[in-house]
Amino acid sequence: MAGFDAQAAAAAFLAQLPPGALEQARLHAREAHWSSAAGGALAILLCWLILRTRILEQLKAWIERDRPRPWLASLVCAAAGLLCFAILIAPWDALIAWRQSLAPGAAEFDLKDFVIGTFGAELGPLALLAVLLALLYALVRTSPRRWWLWAGGLFGALAFAAVWLPYVLASGPAGLSPLPPGPARTAVMQVVQAARLPARNVYLEPGPAIDADVTGSPWAARVVITRGMLEQASPAEIRAGVGHLAGHFHYGDELSLALVLGLLVLGGFFASHRLFGPAARLMGARPGRTESDPASLPVMAAVTLVWIGASGVVFNTFDRLVNVRADQYSLDHAREPDGLALSLVRAWRDDDVDPPRLDEILFYDHPPLKSRVLHAMTWKARRAP
Ligand SMILES: [Zn+2]
Repeated sequence: MAGFDAQAAAAAFLAQLPPGALEQARLHAREAHWSSAAGGALAILLCWLILRTRILEQLKAWIERDRPRPWLASLVCAAAGLLCFAILIAPWDALIAWRQSLAPGAAEFDLKDFVIGTFGAELGPLALLAVLLALLYALVRTSPRRWWLWAGGLFGALAFAAVWLPYVLASGPAGLSPLPPGPARTAVMQVVQAARLPARNVYLEPGPAIDADVTGSPWAARVVITRGMLEQASPAEIRAGVGHLAGHFHYGDELSLALVLGLLVLGGFFASHRLFGPAARLMGARPGRTESDPASLPVMAAVTLVWIGASGVVFNTFDRLVNVRADQYSLDHAREPDGLALSLVRAWRDDDVDPPRLDEILFYDHPPLKSRVLHAMTWKARRAP
């Protein structure tokens, strides 16, 4: 478009957001992201500390003082290790909760309530995790070379199913009423046809949020918009929003994300197996410690924590890329750059709209708002007559 300035148009969309809220969100996002990274680093340090106190070694030696008791030793070492970790990380969690209580409108911080609430909520899950770890150690003893494949295969498949199944199975009307004829239905059906979605109908969900969804299998899509979207969004926004979701459906993004997650889980178990030796040396474990020794749980935990951090970055990067592609799909099929920009500005909550590149790579699972709006405006500048 002659004379159309994409940068200025994007800036005009962002100017619709209150400047004070943008600055507050920027500061809040930076603090939240970097304090979670610091919490991860502290957790790894605590694993090292628990290992170096040799408390689990002494506990195991006492349990097995007259004969081997591998089940009991692994259960008690897992429970003790987890409890030590929970106690040592609690001051950090309290600090974070106290910082959050300073935000306007937040409830006042009460240390007693925090301690009772945290440990009350954590004891059950910690006990369950200790039992799972005792089972894992039994597997490591039974199959020392392939345990990571069995455990990683099981949990990887569970993670894959948890993401993929709810999406692929959501294909019928599921008791929802069809969207009544009108501008909104016409707008959605135009996108359904342009994107060749396998759907004959659009359904209405009664919720007040401005939202939409396209789910199902490659043979049967379910297209849903909420009552909030019907009442508050323009047909252009609805077309753009459904176009983005149609892009995810077209490229099978939910399947790819589920596969990436499943493989990262499997990879985590493999890393715990493969990197145990180097990590044990690095952390100063006694020579000869093996991964089947529950007193070496802090080594396993540290490797797992590093893997989870690295996996988060890989998963977020993949998620950002598929969302750029879904925006492109929306622009190419719904052809509503202004509708897309407006719906993105409307959906903005509290992330930095233009974070530093490192923050984006490490912490953002969607492209930042400014880059998405600019993408839409650049498309408009190139395509419009
Ligand atoms: Zn998306």
